[in-house]
Amino acid sequence: MTKRYQHFINGRWHKPSDGAYFESTNPATLEVLYEAARGNAADVDSAVAAAREAFENPAWRDLSQTRRGHLMRRLGDLIADNAEEMALAETQDNGKLLREMRGQMAGVPEYLYYYGGLADKIQGDQIPTSSHLVLNYTMREPLGVVGAITPWNSPMTLTTSKLAPALASGNTIVIKPSEHTSANILRLAELATEAGFPDGVVNVVTGFGTEVGAPLADHSGLAKISFTGSTGTGQAIATSAASRFIGSTLELGGKSPNIVFDDANVGNAAMGVIAGVFAAAGQTCIAGSRVFAHKAVYDELLEKVSRRAESIVIGDPLDDRTELGPLAFESQCEKVASYVDLGVQEGATVATGGRRPDVELPGYFYSPTVLTDVNNDMRVVKEEIFGPVTAVIPFETEEELVGMANDSIYGLAAGVWTNSLSRGHRIARQLDAGTVWLNMYRAMSPMSPRQGFKASGVGVEHGIESIKDYTRLKSVWVNTDEEPVADPFILRS
Ligand code: NAD
Repeated sequence: MTKRYQHFINGRWHKPSDGAYFESTNPATLEVLYEAARGNAADVDSAVAAAREAFENPAWRDLSQTRRGHLMRRLGDLIADNAEEMALAETQDNGKLLREMRGQMAGVPEYLYYYGGLADKIQGDQIPTSSHLVLNYTMREPLGVVGAITPWNSPMTLTTSKLAPALASGNTIVIKPSEHTSANILRLAELATEAGFPDGVVNVVTGFGTEVGAPLADHSGLAKISFTGSTGTGQAIATSAASRFIGSTLELGGKSPNIVFDDANVGNAAMGVIAGVFAAAGQTCIAGSRVFAHKAVYDELLEKVSRRAESIVIGDPLDDRTELGPLAFESQCEKVASYVDLGVQEGATVATGGRRPDVELPGYFYSPTVLTDVNNDMRVVKEEIFGPVTAVIPFETEEELVGMANDSIYGLAAGVWTNSLSRGHRIARQLDAGTVWLNMYRAMSPMSPRQGFKASGVGVEHGIESIKDYTRLKSVWVNTDEEPVADPFILRS
């Protein structure tokens, strides 16, 4: 019998209010994995009410910040203890390689350890005044109920990136995972209860974007919304949040340039290009999906990238020898194929790939694809494909390169390959990208802030900075004199 998951609200399993469920399918084998509750606005109401009650409950509100940190570290330990099971669940849900998911799952507890360590360092300041009788101090307070809406491509990492700073700051949370990857996020909430978080601090409502995501994003009980997903959905969420004057953190799409100069180690750069776009079958926001190669090394780079792309082992994501798994669901695979067709209609040449490969499994596989004869005006170069497709574009001067690299609505990440120290830093400074890697690609850490520029996002995730997005600042003025303050304006100077 197919396994069936309920929502997780107020520390327990909670049947969907109208009794509806939906199926989650393994994209490699097309087998039904489980059914999850198909939530609606009433389920969102229940979860937000539980989270609000938990926010005001002394069991959470008055817990010392150090104890909060302990709970977070305990949750990190429980995830570490269950890492193998959770890596497998993620691979079955979204088709990413098991060995990649093992690596990611080993990193997930680090978010809880890092932010658990920060929990009792969140504090206000004492502000100087011009009178020794007047005290001014600030308090950094939690916001209330945070709504978190997350995508399917790295469910645990991307959800924990929101959960950890939200909890460290003393908020409670309602999470709406992607409809393609519900299982692990429900397990995360269950583990939070096991770790000792009071009921209602971590809640999960599963279901579809319009049925659960939109009612959550629009809910009047939220104090903040944190979203990772496509730019279009992010725009609707930001508009709704702005109309209620609540803050939003948005981690959105990208079309990141991976730039190879003529003084680079071309072999290393080719590997960086391959890993930059074909890892996770291109289903990462930071995919280096626009490759700019200096004319002097263009042919050599293209040859190396194409040759390696052709040898990539495509197949079962559970097999350690596999290098490229399936796309996460059928319409994603169709979208990738139609973008490649569009590129060809626009005049692009398929240097390699551009087809569904022969694989023993029936899933949504697509070959690693390299497009040439492309330019910045083509839709395949402008729009996010979110699949294993990259376009290679030649350039001659730094000025031309910077102009082309920045000619995008997105500004998420960029890679630069050069052996010139000064050139590397010079280009990093000029790029419109929230993260720049020099002679490497893809590195990230809970300690290092991530911000999408332009249509790639708003607000900061990871690092100390993100705590500001999950807290509010109160300024308190105190007259310590028995007499009234003679002239409050004097304090301004
Ligand atoms: P998506 O926008 O379709 O969905 C993301 C989440 O939003 C899902 O949970 C979905 O159910 C929900 N949703 C959909 N419509 C909604 C609505 N109207 N209101 C509220 N919620 C709604 O994105 P996706 O396809 O799941 O994820 C891929 C996208 O995420 C890509 O664009 C990728 O670049 C982006 N992404 C960004 C980052 C980053 O850090 N910048 C990381 C990973 C993925």
